Amino acid sequence: MTLSLAWIGLGSNIDGPHEHIERAFRALDQLPLTRCQQQSSRYRSRPVGPADQPDFVNAVAQLETRLSPLALLDQLQALEQQHGRVRQRHWGPRTLDLDLLLFDDRQLSTPRLTVPHAHMHQRGFVLIPLAELVPDLRLPNGKRIDELLATLDTSDLQRVLPKNTLTPQ
Ligand code: AMP
Repeated sequence: MTLSLAWIGLGSNIDGPHEHIERAFRALDQLPLTRCQQQSSRYRSRPVGPADQPDFVNAVAQLETRLSPLALLDQLQALEQQHGRVRQRHWGPRTLDLDLLLFDDRQLSTPRLTVPHAHMHQRGFVLIPLAELVPDLRLPNGKRIDELLATLDTSDLQRVLPKNTLTPQ
């Protein structure tokens, strides 16, 4: 099994969002065949979609993994369930949302999994923490992350906790 890099977007906006995000980082580091190499800062963002819900806490994790993309998605969905995620309405509040943003420089389109994540190009709360971890990132379509960010209004995004780079084990 080859070693891959994967980037995960984390989001939470109910039931103690900061605690859900901290627990999720620890859980990502403990997934089978996987290690969390880097954590971004935490950000506060206004919700996408229905506005009558609390702000989100968002962050990005950089993982080193020997899992396949689909096996990693299985693990992410199991973690969401463990955090008591109940799907109430589309883009509604959630205790924990984990998105597989990028997996090496692969492009995947299957019924369960689209990589790069379909909406990541338009979302400051994904691109800003991702750019902290990989400032010179180019997406598989050739676009640079700073070019994408230049097209977005990210003024409502607030950094709330500093970046924490984990030391290699
Ligand atoms: P959401 O409610 O936004 O978390 O979407 C979850 C659904 O999106 C699940 O059915 C996943 O199978 C699907 N999905 C497709 N691509 C991805 C991806 N890159 N990361 C996470 N979920 C994905």
